[in-house]
Amino acid sequence: MAKKSVASQRYLLINAGRLIDGRAKTAIPNGAVLIQGSKVVAAGRASAVRAPDGAAVDTIEYPGMTVMPGMVDCHTHHNGFGDGRPGDFVADVPDEVLALQSARNARASLFTGVTTIRENGPKAYTMLRLRESVNAGLAVGPRMVLCGWPVSIIGGHMWYFGGQTTGPTEVRAMVRRLVKEGADYIKVTATGGTTKTSYPLLPSFNVDELKAVADTAHGLGKLTAAHCTATQGIVNALDGGIDMIIHCTFRDADGKDRFREDIAERIGKQGTYVNPTLQVLRSTVWALERKKQERALTPNEQARLDFFQRNFDRRMEDCRRLVGMGLKVITGSDSSWTDYQLGNTVYEVECLTDVGFSPMRAVQSVTADAAVALGVDRIVGTLEPGKEADVIVVDGDPSRDVRALWNVREVFLAGKRVERGSDASIAATRQHPPSES
Ligand SMILES: [Zn+2]
Repeated sequence: MAKKSVASQRYLLINAGRLIDGRAKTAIPNGAVLIQGSKVVAAGRASAVRAPDGAAVDTIEYPGMTVMPGMVDCHTHHNGFGDGRPGDFVADVPDEVLALQSARNARASLFTGVTTIRENGPKAYTMLRLRESVNAGLAVGPRMVLCGWPVSIIGGHMWYFGGQTTGPTEVRAMVRRLVKEGADYIKVTATGGTTKTSYPLLPSFNVDELKAVADTAHGLGKLTAAHCTATQGIVNALDGGIDMIIHCTFRDADGKDRFREDIAERIGKQGTYVNPTLQVLRSTVWALERKKQERALTPNEQARLDFFQRNFDRRMEDCRRLVGMGLKVITGSDSSWTDYQLGNTVYEVECLTDVGFSPMRAVQSVTADAAVALGVDRIVGTLEPGKEADVIVVDGDPSRDVRALWNVREVFLAGKRVERGSDASIAATRQHPPSES
């Protein structure tokens, strides 16, 4: 049987009111993207984007809309339910059920325009197996950058997902094992967190152990990211040579918030990425406020609401300073952790515009910049010839108002149009603030 040559494959031409290619500082009016197979062949002004003479072309028109790269969310928890259940509870759910929940979340991600995710804390093999299932055509989901499971100290944050380890030698072994199992990067918890047996105000791994994580991962060509909800954890992660600081909470061991400009400067100097995770705090505020509309809160719930509101306000303020200092801040939602559900990445993008990003910079932080931060920019993040055709079409102009990213009308993954189901089912994945519900 004769093989169909690549040149004879049909082209797909997408014409739209404007193009955001992920590189240009402004949207390009009357933009077009030409796709063949899974790849972008050309992107630019419609007048300059043409298939070769005589080629078979399917053309789709999206007048008034924006064609742009699919979103890249650098921080997800696909095992999560987003209904307030803490991680300790999620970890008690059988792996098989978590894999199914992850499959459901993966659809929510993809259908809302997130075509690449970096998973930050799944249990055991759940996400590695989900990816295999997606590749085998059994499930639908975005491109996945996986950690396998997070690396933690004994009893440390997210220990329950399977990565407890002690000392540089064990840490090296764990990193090598993760890479062997298919991990694309290494997630480590440099401080405690919401995990019951952990200490969120204290560092967990020491610098020798963090160095072992970074050196071993880098030696295998993998990047690293560290969960840091205390200042000393940030410092340790920087000393260890970790590539991305997650949360980046400037909080001392006494529980007091003290922004540290000297450490922020060091983050900038080392070129370390910051993933601030803001909306995850506000989503808990929203959940408790909604409860409060229904009934009186218990004193514990009220205290929790006050804490999360204060925490959110403070972290927004700190993030504004990081953005002002020109640090490499990128979008990563942290959904579906606690109350924040997958399918709502755009809220995190909105938070970054609230702390000083221009709409276009915010768009880049969830496309081109995020792809660079994850080391997948040769494949995705912008619409350039040779890259995978992960493309979304949105109603409105996100380069003027990022809320347009809520209006995803079409998603193409590797050049294939994604069947997303009804508009109503997609709208149902959106979480609304209590005032709007
Ligand atoms: Zn997280």
